[in-house]
Amino acid sequence: MPDCIFCKIRDGQVPARIVHRDEHCLAIEDINPQAPTHLLVIPLEHIPTMNDLTEAHRELVGHLHLTAAKLARQRGIADRGYRLVFNTWRDAGQTVFHIHLHLLGGRPMEWPPG
Ligand code: IMP
Repeated sequence: MPDCIFCKIRDGQVPARIVHRDEHCLAIEDINPQAPTHLLVIPLEHIPTMNDLTEAHRELVGHLHLTAAKLARQRGIADRGYRLVFNTWRDAGQTVFHIHLHLLGGRPMEWPPG
């Protein structure tokens, strides 16, 4: 997708602090962190929203979560706790239309989210 910022980061056309990359996804530091740890786990495949997932993505979605949990352990926040979020469409405030799993942690968080 030519205008997708996460596709450009994936392809090395836009710089980012990449903390993980494998054959299915990459993880980057969020440019506007909302917690001491705020990473985005991004599939290499351009999928605009969670509404566009199909059965073919079943393993990929699992892989994104397993990767986030591994990164939480690496960051030392796994035992303390963290939050994983996919924002989807307007009411959830999705701004980048290439799905990404937010990994937020390192501070207490409130529930329900705003
Ligand atoms: P959304 O609101 O769930 O779509 O989240 C998009 C996230 O991407 C936000 O937390 C932004 O701060 C983050 N973001 C946007 N552009 C960049 C970038 O170029 N590098 C890293 N993070 C970005």
